[in-house]
Amino acid sequence: MRLDLMTWPEVEAYLKTSKTVVVPVGSTEQHGPTGVMGTDIICPEIIAKTATEIDPFLITPPLPFGQAQHHLDFAGTIALRPSTLIATVQDVVASLSHHGFQRIYFFNGHGGNTATLEAAMAECYGAFSLRGEACPYRLKVRNWWELPGIFELCKRLFPRGHGGHGAPSELSVTHYAYDEAMRRDKPEPKIAPFGHDYGDACSFRAAYPDGRAGADPTLATKALGEQLVHQSAQALVRELQAFSA
Ligand SMILES: [Zn+2]
Repeated sequence: MRLDLMTWPEVEAYLKTSKTVVVPVGSTEQHGPTGVMGTDIICPEIIAKTATEIDPFLITPPLPFGQAQHHLDFAGTIALRPSTLIATVQDVVASLSHHGFQRIYFFNGHGGNTATLEAAMAECYGAFSLRGEACPYRLKVRNWWELPGIFELCKRLFPRGHGGHGAPSELSVTHYAYDEAMRRDKPEPKIAPFGHDYGDACSFRAAYPDGRAGADPTLATKALGEQLVHQSAQALVRELQAFSA
């Protein structure tokens, strides 16, 4: 169930059946010469939409911007400061909690967001803990590739050339979601350099000249994307059921 396609009376009725809501979080950032800018939004969004067809959890529109300062030397990247992302998450949580949601699950598509989302969660809880009050909701942050079994699946599907950024797993998912996300160019070198600190935007571009880190994007296919989406969606449903209980 998509919040953006519901009316407020429908949301009110949903709240009588469930207090759980999924908030996809992404980033608008370069993904190498063949990966589209919305990769980190598309991945959690398509997996969440597939999961809600299995079990009708409520999903919000995705947060499209994240902590991506290290990608800013590539055209099109839009970065939020960590403090901006933390404030955004706090306001989203306050709004959803105001309506009575008690299980708020942030489903993340960008590794650079993880620490900031965890800090945002601590800010939300801390506002209650420091006053000696019980927090009326529970939060969870989950990266899609860290759902149970999915990282192992990625390693099995891409034993060489998975890498850390512009990876064939995430590109496969975008190919499955959108035909127009597919590119057939073959970047050189086939497997990008890997292992340097990401650092700031200048040092990232120096270490990773075409934007990829350790990845061979030519391994990405629509069929592998379908497999990744469906297995991730099943894992997400199981995790949401446990989180809601
Ligand atoms: Zn990504």
